[in-house]
Amino acid sequence: VLWVGIGCERGSPQALIEYALEQVFRKNHLALGAIAGIATLDLKADEVGLIELCQAQNWPLQCFPAEQLKDIAVPNPSEVVAAAVGTGSVAEAAAILAASIPARAAKGPLNPSILGDFETAQRSQASPELQNSELRTPQHWGAGGPQDIPQESTTSLRVQKQIIRHPDYPGAVTVAIAQAETEYTGRTGELLLVGTGPGSLDQITPAAKAAINRADVVIGYTLYVDLIRSLLRPGQIIEALPITQERQRAERATTLANWGLTVAVISSGDCGIYGMGGLVLEVLKTQNWDGKTPAVQIFPGISALQSAASRVGAPLMHDFCAISLSDLLTPWEVIQKRLIAAAQADFTVALYNPKSKTRTEQIQFAQQTFLQHRQPDTPVALAHSLYRPDEQIVLTTLGDMLNHPIDMLTTVLIGNQSSLTHAGWFITPRGYLGFKQLE
Ligand code: SAH
Repeated sequence: VLWVGIGCERGSPQALIEYALEQVFRKNHLALGAIAGIATLDLKADEVGLIELCQAQNWPLQCFPAEQLKDIAVPNPSEVVAAAVGTGSVAEAAAILAASIPARAAKGPLNPSILGDFETAQRSQASPELQNSELRTPQHWGAGGPQDIPQESTTSLRVQKQIIRHPDYPGAVTVAIAQAETEYTGRTGELLLVGTGPGSLDQITPAAKAAINRADVVIGYTLYVDLIRSLLRPGQIIEALPITQERQRAERATTLANWGLTVAVISSGDCGIYGMGGLVLEVLKTQNWDGKTPAVQIFPGISALQSAASRVGAPLMHDFCAISLSDLLTPWEVIQKRLIAAAQADFTVALYNPKSKTRTEQIQFAQQTFLQHRQPDTPVALAHSLYRPDEQIVLTTLGDMLNHPIDMLTTVLIGNQSSLTHAGWFITPRGYLGFKQLE
């Protein structure tokens, strides 16, 4: 969590920088093992002693341009340094800046708007223009967005700048230390958007299983986490959240991925079909995601409409569509419009979220709409809890469908005008053998 800001005279050797760190850390009762990395001015990016030290210790070296460092309020600015390099502070400003920026954002655009305790005090004495510029809202904030990291006082300078020399070495080193809110992982996070299929473990793709297995964190709705529990391994962070907290789930996932973890977000069926996939991408978009960091990989799953089809025959052999009857996120007028269009256009239709305890009228409207364009004997499949222990499949007709149980764990398949049943199987002809004679 400690970012060490370093300024030094040109040619200061690695041994002198090491000596300076040891001195400053010991004097301030800090552990060298807590060093996240070194921060400095970009002019120092080729400073041999600094580079050798970072390589030896495997520390990141973050270099900031003077234009960014000069905007950071520090306790000990120097006019001499300002005249030489264009910023009155290198060590203190670089330490504060590095500590205020989460690991993943550090590579991208920076924004020096997160300031420490003592600067809050300083800022109140500063000119109004300076106050405004310092209070800018972070635009390129990485780890989970600004909601995770309050704008005030999250970064504090633990040690103000110290100048260290040693009689045996040439040069001089300035050291300042700031503490970050978040531990530096040094990793690029990953978001694995995983579809776990309808329920049973043998309906998950091997790629999806491997993704779940290698994740540091698995996030999903409690029921789905329970369904794949045997794939989890010790040491993984499991965050099972109640249904209806989809947004929180997605934000939590991006926060952890921005921090450098590999996060699997699981949805039943396919994660991009009424699943978490799109929501996670939307949340990333609100964070000005660059499309690469965190890395996103998507693992498709068998969606409920495919599972349902597999249990009753080949109802989706011709053009089909899916319509969710849930009006929680979609206005009912829009759903109605789509039902009418699908019925008119003779699509075979898969209805998701057909009916809940309190929402019972939508499925009646759907039936009435389809009856206006299809015969009452059109095949309909009601597929409940597919590939789960309580699976139940009813093959019925459009006219009779509402006389059977339908709930939120049911997917409803309504055939098109050519669909037929034979010996208990639901078939929608593609046309190879000709279509059913239409009345
Ligand atoms: N991402 C999921 C859909 C989630 S929306 C997928 O691709 O399948 C939730 C709706 O999906 C449920 O209301 C139900 O209509 C359907 N569904 C999901 N899993 C199901 C299962 N195992 N059996 C029957 N229907 C299911």
